[in-house]
Amino acid sequence: MIQISKSDFLEYRSCAKGWWLKHRKRDAVNWPAPSAFDRMLMADGYLVEAQAKKLVATWPHHDDCTFQRVFDAGSLYARADLVHDLGGGVIDLYEIKGSTSLKSSSGQDHVDDACFQTLVAERSGVSVRSVYIMHVNGEYARDGAIDPAALLVIVDVTSEVRARSAGINEEIEAAIALIRVDLIDEQGCTCRHIGKAGHCASFAYFNPDIPENSAYLLPRISRKRLETLDSEQRLAIDHVTEKDVTPAQLPIWRALASGEPLIDHEAIGAFLEPLQWPLHFYDYETFAAAVPIADGHQPQQAMPVQFSLHRLAADGRLEHAEFLADGPGQQADLVAAMRAAFMDEGSAIVWNKSFEKGCNDRMADLLPDAAAFLAGINERTVDLMDPFKAHYVHPGFGGSTSIKKVLPILCPHLQYDPSAVHDGAGAMEAWIHMVETSDPAERTRLATELKNYCKLDSLAMVEIFRVLRAL
Ligand code: SF4
Repeated sequence: MIQISKSDFLEYRSCAKGWWLKHRKRDAVNWPAPSAFDRMLMADGYLVEAQAKKLVATWPHHDDCTFQRVFDAGSLYARADLVHDLGGGVIDLYEIKGSTSLKSSSGQDHVDDACFQTLVAERSGVSVRSVYIMHVNGEYARDGAIDPAALLVIVDVTSEVRARSAGINEEIEAAIALIRVDLIDEQGCTCRHIGKAGHCASFAYFNPDIPENSAYLLPRISRKRLETLDSEQRLAIDHVTEKDVTPAQLPIWRALASGEPLIDHEAIGAFLEPLQWPLHFYDYETFAAAVPIADGHQPQQAMPVQFSLHRLAADGRLEHAEFLADGPGQQADLVAAMRAAFMDEGSAIVWNKSFEKGCNDRMADLLPDAAAFLAGINERTVDLMDPFKAHYVHPGFGGSTSIKKVLPILCPHLQYDPSAVHDGAGAMEAWIHMVETSDPAERTRLATELKNYCKLDSLAMVEIFRVLRAL
């Protein structure tokens, strides 16, 4: 018998077919392993729970409180984050979250989680008096030791849980019924008419007729357009016409349909022309956590812990500077290293400028003395990703403007090592392990990986810039 947990139920709600496939025909799909982002989320949860334990220890009734109490209700199973046993089979139930509101960063409503836990607890035989969500306070700024009472917010969601109970109960019954059936309709799935960002690993299994080179590669393609193309059996990119695409999708469609790169030399020249020498290609890696790790930091606030900067002079001279914090709260040192690496003049070049500019804004709030310097960098920031939205589009980019897609096509000699740190979440995970490990060899290994990764990000921009300039 499959026991349905809260995670199962949430997966079922997000996609019933995908959830069934995972449990009943697991070998049908090559399911991705949990990502670095997933692992960081779990680690965050443990840290918030540790703070909740400190808070509960101050409650007069703390002896009646239990963390991770299990409720077994036959086909359902719940592990409640925190239970206050009121005696006589009556409890108060708490869900503990690392988010800064009643919703997760992906928009998942925590009241629904709490409702599932409540219903399972009640089916197991207890009576739930009140339901609470304990989440972190987004306004909290660390000042010395963490103050759990200031960090955590407790919201009474009992009435909302009761209002949703009937609906969630029906969904639970539907999930139980679904997981018991041996066969489902495996033709298509609901993501067939949404863009590829929403697709999971099961998409190809449920939609084997969709060719690799399809309308899903067009950025921000609308549901209506996909429905029309599907009903006319024109999802293959060869059957999409110019009339089907928006102006923003047009260059991507042209490159995908022709199989040839589309290069607008004039527009790329206009992009490069205003750049000021020397060019500062730089990249940050950040760390964010529900429980802030340094004074002045706030929950889930991404703060730079590392940068790599390549400075390219007009005569072609290339110099490299970098900084890697070896502990929390070193943003002032990082900014000092930035000051040393940046000339008073010259463009600052990044990939996806909202990220680096946001980092500079947050560091300016943290370090008012550096605010003018950081604002100055933001003012001279240019986004090297921009030309790849419309002026240089290659079918090999697959409709993406990610540097991870652009680099292998333009500069195949530069490679990200998939077995080492190779993305932002992985860098975050590696950085905190580097800081926390007591093994010097492991610390050195992680520091080397982090430096190599960040250095490749800024060097990749230099090489991509050189390709554009040589056109
Ligand atoms: S791609 Fe299909 S199976 Fe996957 S989440 Fe979307 S609807 Fe579900």
